Amino acid sequence: MKSNNNTNNTTDISNAEKATQVLVELHEIKKIFYTDDVETHALNNINLTINKGEYLSISGPSGCGKSTLLSLLGLLDNSSSGRYTLAGHDVSDLNRDERSAIRNKEIGFIFQAFNLISDLTVAENVELPLTYRSDFDAKQRAVMVNTALEKVDMLHRADHFPSQLSGGQQQRVAVARAISAKPSIILADEPTGNLDSKNAQIVMALLDQLHQEGATICMVTHDPRSAARAERMIEVFDGKIVADQLSQTPTAIAV
Ligand code: ADP
Ligand code: MG
Repeated sequence: MKSNNNTNNTTDISNAEKATQVLVELHEIKKIFYTDDVETHALNNINLTINKGEYLSISGPSGCGKSTLLSLLGLLDNSSSGRYTLAGHDVSDLNRDERSAIRNKEIGFIFQAFNLISDLTVAENVELPLTYRSDFDAKQRAVMVNTALEKVDMLHRADHFPSQLSGGQQQRVAVARAISAKPSIILADEPTGNLDSKNAQIVMALLDQLHQEGATICMVTHDPRSAARAERMIEVFDGKIVADQLSQTPTAIAV
C-alpha cells in the first residue's frame, strides 16, 4: 500500500520530467515588495534552470534576494512577473491553496532556525506535513516517519521533544521532515547558520548523502565552504544572478 502511493507520487513527476529532465525553470522572474511608500525590487529578471538531481548553492550578500528566490521556488509566494515551471507544470499564477497543495507534495524545506513545533514530539513534527496529505493513512505515515528518522539517525529520539535535543539534532529532525514525503526538490535556507562547526558538518554530510541518492537540492548559504560543496554555485547580487558555475570541489571529496 505504502509503496504504491509513493510510487504514484513520484511517477506523476517522472512522467513530466522524462521529456527533459528539467525540474525547475524560471523565466524573467521579478519580485517587487510594496510597503507603504517604499518599493523594493527584490528580484530582477531571474532566469534559472535546475535539472533533476542537481545540487546547487545560492550565495550573495545579505538583502540580495536569496530568501525571496527560495520562497518563490518553494511556492510560498508568487512572483510579480515572469514564468515558473515546476516538473513541466506552469505554477506562475496559482492561488494560495493551489500553491500549498503542490508545495506539500513537491517541496521539502529546511530553515536556519529549524522551525520545529515545540509541543510536538520528534515523530509528530516529522509527521505533521504528511497529515495534510489525503493520500497517506496513519499506517503509511508512521512508516514514512520512521524511514525518514532512520535516514538522519534520529529514530532513537522519536518520542523526545525539540527542547530535549541539541541544535544539530533538531536540524536533523527538520531534514527528516523535509524528506519524509520524497519531495521533488529540497530547499534549504542557511541550514547550518545556527549550528556549531561540528554539527554543521553533520548536516552538510547529510545533504551530500541525499544528493548522492538522487535528491535535487537548492541551498542558500553565505559560507563559501558550504557553497563549494554543492556541484553548482550561483551568486546573487542586487536581485540578479551574477555568477553560475560548477564547483571546483566535488561533493564526494568534501565529505
Ligand atoms: P537575503 O535572503 O538575500 O538576505 P531577502 O530575499 O530576504 O534577502 O530580501 C531581499 C530584499 O527584499 C531586501 O531588501 C528585503 O528587505 C526585501 N524584502 C524581503 N521580504 C520582504 C517583504 N515580505 N516585504 C518587504 N520587503 C521584503
Ligand atoms: Mg535570507
